Amino acid sequence: MLLRMSTMLLKTLREEPAEAEVPSHRLLLRAGYVRRAAPGGHTWLPLGKLVLDRITAIAREEMIAIGGQEVSFPALLPREPYDVTGRWADYGDDLFTLKDRRGADFLLAPTHEEMFALLVQEMTSSYRDFPLILFQVQSKFRDEARPRAGVLRGREFLMKDAYSFDLSDAGLAAAYAQHRTAYQRIFERIGLTHTIVSAMSGAMGGSASEEFLATADVGEDTFVGCTTCDYAANTEAVVTPVPVIKEREHHPLTVHDTPGTPTITSLVELANSQALDGRTDWTAADTLKNVVVTVHHPGREDSLLVIGVPGDREVDLKRLDAALSPATATMFDDFAARPDLVKGYLGPQGLALRYLADPRVAPGTAWLTGANEPGRHATSVVAGRDFTPDGTIEAAEVRAGDACPACDAGELTIRRGIEIGHIFQLGRRYTDVFGIDVLGADGKPVRPTMGSYGIGLSRAVGAIAEQHHDERGLLWPDEVAPADVHVIAAGKQGQLDAAGALAAELVAGGLRVLVDDRSQLSAGVKFTDAELIGIRRIVVVGRRLSEGYAEIRDRHTDERRDVPLTDVVRVLTG
Ligand code: ATP
Ligand code: MG
Repeated sequence: MLLRMSTMLLKTLREEPAEAEVPSHRLLLRAGYVRRAAPGGHTWLPLGKLVLDRITAIAREEMIAIGGQEVSFPALLPREPYDVTGRWADYGDDLFTLKDRRGADFLLAPTHEEMFALLVQEMTSSYRDFPLILFQVQSKFRDEARPRAGVLRGREFLMKDAYSFDLSDAGLAAAYAQHRTAYQRIFERIGLTHTIVSAMSGAMGGSASEEFLATADVGEDTFVGCTTCDYAANTEAVVTPVPVIKEREHHPLTVHDTPGTPTITSLVELANSQALDGRTDWTAADTLKNVVVTVHHPGREDSLLVIGVPGDREVDLKRLDAALSPATATMFDDFAARPDLVKGYLGPQGLALRYLADPRVAPGTAWLTGANEPGRHATSVVAGRDFTPDGTIEAAEVRAGDACPACDAGELTIRRGIEIGHIFQLGRRYTDVFGIDVLGADGKPVRPTMGSYGIGLSRAVGAIAEQHHDERGLLWPDEVAPADVHVIAAGKQGQLDAAGALAAELVAGGLRVLVDDRSQLSAGVKFTDAELIGIRRIVVVGRRLSEGYAEIRDRHTDERRDVPLTDVVRVLTG
């Protein structure tokens, strides 16, 4: 492959693009890899398409290596299968829906579990057809609330999605393990430093769903690790260890006048200055904060929910959404419409709304909290005695230093990452709703169990750029770089001719070559562009051409050395 910059559709930018929010996005725009084409949609320019295709090829290779068979579904799908599973409604506003000319409902698929399940139903009949791994590489569509950072969060993006079908739980576990290993290999090959985190807190257990997070400060996911054991989880999946409460006598609930204390800080200050209950050591952690949220249920009316968290913690809306999924929540602020909800003085005792509490609000714990009257709070409000939550909810923020839920000794540390892959043991959720059965070895019907596994291929381009750049530009890992060598003709006609000849020789040697054969530009501009574009090996045909030398530069280490022109191919292919 020979790419000539003199004819290539490429325009590097010197200025910072105003639309860029994160370094990777800025550099991909400036170096001419992508361009914004639509809200949440990007055009892959020639350089970008090469990188995207490299990543895709690697993902495809590793999927085939575990026995995956590639298929390709339409992205434009009818509503019916998604109605059967409930996802037409559950996806909510994220789903792109449209009507055809006859008025029939269609969607642009956000992911394809339904279609793969139905395909397997149509095309298999007996246990001999299993196990199966099917995958595709395809554009997905999601009307994201906040498209962001170019290719990192688009409304149209490229995904490699795979689905496994097995007849036993052990088979599913094996398919899951195969995908996990394949994903580790893929991310290693494309140069993404990542952590595998548990994505699920529920009864299904840690291994049923895991995310691959590329560590990056600009990542939208926050995840925890343990200082002592190997626990790692998305904060959305962190389970709060329930405190062991010793049984003891509590004072009776006492209501106090606490004027002008609608915030936790003002409340703690007053509690100490007035020595409520004879104490002057009140802290925010002794208070119970009750937060009213509006819950938006897909396809149903909104409802109000009150969440109780220790006053030293905020409600984390991402954790809350994960806990309420497929419903979502927003902060309620229309207190004028609900005089029964006394803003700033809300307590769980006698509350007429659904009330869910943080696990730290365990039975037997006593709290300083609102008295449901303006300017009044109550002490010794005891969970299980003065109020009984309708349940617990994991919605309080997770903080560095929190106790590890998996071991007794460790504390949690917090980092940020970009979700680049997700593996998920779905089980029989889809085969149950479609009633998919095949003939078992014993002649009886057996219901296949499914796994679903996704990689964000277009997002991966952004994630790699985020992890591999410096102030001068991109620094592609070799496996995904748009070319193996960037040859620069740093001079007039002699250099241009020699660079062209060298590029041809390198191509003949099996390398993919980008040659800067633009005749009107200074060497300085070409060097700056080469650093921006970020191919590791740069060959400069310049000043020492007359002596028969070229210079080989390493963009990653900044090493430079002069090599006889006749040796360049051997050095670079050796
Ligand atoms: P996120 O939490 O970032 O929205 P998700 O949980 O919705 O991701 P999945 O449904 O598991 O993602 O999709 C599989 C993979 O597709 C993700 O791991 C991610 O790499 C990629 N992906 C998801 N949404 C987007 C998007 N809007 N733009 C680019 N890639 C995406
Ligand atoms: Mg999403």
